[in-house]
Amino acid sequence: MTDTNPISHNFVAKVVQEDLNAGKMAKVVTRFPPEPNGYLHVGHAKSICLNFGVAKQFGGDCHLRFDDTNPEKENQEYIDAIKSDVRWLGFEWAGEVRYASDYFDQLHEWALHLIREGKAYVCDLTPEQAREYRGTLTEPGKNSPYRDRSVEENLDLFARMRAGEFDEGSCALRAKIDMASPNMNLRDPFIYRIRKAHHHQTGDKWCIYPTYDFTHGQSDAIEGVTHSVCTLEFEDHRPLYEWFLANLPVPCVPVQYEFGRLNLDYTVTSKRKLKSLVDQQVVSGWDDPRMPTISGMRRRGFTPASVRTFCDMIGVTRSDGMVDIAMLEHALRTDLNKNAPRAMAVINPLKVVIENLPEDHLEMLTAEYHPEQDLGTREFPFTREILIDEGDFKEEYSKKFKKKFTPGKRIRLRHSYVIEATDYEKDDAGKVTLVKARLIEGTLGENPADGDNPKGVVHWVSASHSIEAELRLYERLFTHQTPDKTDGDFMEYVNTDSLSVVTARVEPALANAAAETNFQFEREGYYVADRFDHSAEKPVFNLTIGLREDKALAN
Ligand code: ATP
Ligand code: MG
Repeated sequence: MTDTNPISHNFVAKVVQEDLNAGKMAKVVTRFPPEPNGYLHVGHAKSICLNFGVAKQFGGDCHLRFDDTNPEKENQEYIDAIKSDVRWLGFEWAGEVRYASDYFDQLHEWALHLIREGKAYVCDLTPEQAREYRGTLTEPGKNSPYRDRSVEENLDLFARMRAGEFDEGSCALRAKIDMASPNMNLRDPFIYRIRKAHHHQTGDKWCIYPTYDFTHGQSDAIEGVTHSVCTLEFEDHRPLYEWFLANLPVPCVPVQYEFGRLNLDYTVTSKRKLKSLVDQQVVSGWDDPRMPTISGMRRRGFTPASVRTFCDMIGVTRSDGMVDIAMLEHALRTDLNKNAPRAMAVINPLKVVIENLPEDHLEMLTAEYHPEQDLGTREFPFTREILIDEGDFKEEYSKKFKKKFTPGKRIRLRHSYVIEATDYEKDDAGKVTLVKARLIEGTLGENPADGDNPKGVVHWVSASHSIEAELRLYERLFTHQTPDKTDGDFMEYVNTDSLSVVTARVEPALANAAAETNFQFEREGYYVADRFDHSAEKPVFNLTIGLREDKALAN
């Protein structure tokens, strides 16, 4: 296997290997089971890499199943976005996309089965009463007064629930397990509720819906999932899932394994909180490049390989932890440094006139797109008037600035000639507005013949033959390291200066960049041609990340 498809040694892979060695199953089947109530975020990437990765590693299948038991909160836009995100990350599910709602008939049948076995009952307690009866972590619950209804009465009431005879919340179907169980999940959990809601997959067929807990494990069983991998908050639900599997005629008994959620600092990873950022228009949408959503990261310029590498770096553990965002940035920067073509963009331009060149001088120079990889070459125009970054010129020479351009000193123009500054002009405010220079002949790819070698190399573009580009500069979306773990509201820590838009001059070849192409703008940072707004007529690039750790997203 190549390094883009690493062999994982995480504990889930270890369990799978042992199970296969012991002949417990012929083929491993995993699944990624999102609820389509929002876009996927970086935490989901961890789960995707784990589930799809383990299946791939052992020649098994990974299903994509939408756990769609909350019709009011779900919609087709989310389904489409999730499918696209999984594919963008480089994974393909086995067979068709699956939906828990495909199994509503079967789940309904199994609810009837529990009723007939005397293991489920229709309860008329109001939600508030049910909460009271449930007890607390330290006190047992009390039996519902409806717990001993006969099988016939329960069958009749459940049929009438299904027929739409009752209002939402007036009654519900509960499993009859143990109101005194120390595990609250086993205190007669609700398994079917009345919800007169239209469902994106099943339309108006149902007005009762199974709860997530009654759906999840059985859906895995129907699909023949061998290793049902989920996050730690479901550990306490495992005894309940096992109870359902033991008390229903399921075709297979999946085993659940829990792992720690990914939490990243300076970020929130909860669809609900991300949705409020979208709804309150703090960001431009789910795919705003500042969002930790997969589609936001994509638009920001993350590559699928960098996200997969990150997920591999953080590993899979049995405890929840906080991951330093620097790890994600490191994975990204390493990938971009290795693979992104180089180009030149000048963000704060200062004009340099090379006076010993004719007015109409136009020379096409050629440079490789990458110093190590064969990514081809591009041509760019060299003219009498060029633009350099204003920070690269200093009026006075000093040891500190010896790599800079100063009067009487030389610099190398990247991929071009050596020039020497002869004079400069300032405006009334004392700002340098123009530098005069002369070209040192014979220095294209060669050192000056007189041995006076330049100390520094600067990026530049032609003043007349460069093009304008919009650069969107992003900073972290939150100013607090753990925005949703403070006493206040996470919204208080939104960085209101997290986007700034500037205009830069860039080399003309960049107009033809395909959307989503990553670049290293030399000495400036990593940028990506915006997925939606970039065009040859109006080039738009997003700042992905700075070149060095100290110039990371925070600064
Ligand atoms: P959220 O709280 O953001 O809504 P969720 O767990 O409710 O997340 P689901 O759509 O149910 O989201 O998640 C699909 C799968 O992704 C589940 O198996 C879930 O455990 C996993 N997952 C969700 N968030 C994370 C995370 N932060 N780290 C790792 N896995 C996650
Ligand atoms: Mg959820």
